Amino acid sequence: MVLTKESKQLFVFNCKRCGHCCTELGGVTVLPEDVDRIAIYLDTSRKKVKEQYTYTERNMVFLSQPCPFYEKDKGCTIYIARPKVCHLYPLQVENGRYGAATGCPGAIMIPLGGG
Ligand code: SF4
Ligand code: SF4
Repeated sequence: MVLTKESKQLFVFNCKRCGHCCTELGGVTVLPEDVDRIAIYLDTSRKKVKEQYTYTERNMVFLSQPCPFYEKDKGCTIYIARPKVCHLYPLQVENGRYGAATGCPGAIMIPLGGG
């Protein structure tokens, strides 16, 4: 649960393990440190991680979609080494405010009222 002071909303999250975020959304950003961590976890090289699991667009590196690390029965197979953006999801920051990603059935924003 996160109380977002600016928007006076309560962010409540309970993952339903539906896999939507790992299979249907594009553009999971992979930072250089994410590539390093995944390479260590998989006991392989940075080069192989980039070649096998990512694509590059406008100098940004993204995970291939659907995510190659998602398995229907197991969920995320690199959970402890997953990219930082996967840690945050479905919490998002837009225009300086926290919000819940649309399409995630486990996240809701509860208005607290009081202006
Ligand atoms: S979309 Fe939401 S509820 Fe579904 S697996 Fe992802 S985080 Fe969990
Ligand atoms: S790295 Fe894991 S949490 Fe992130 S999109 Fe892939 S399967 Fe989902």
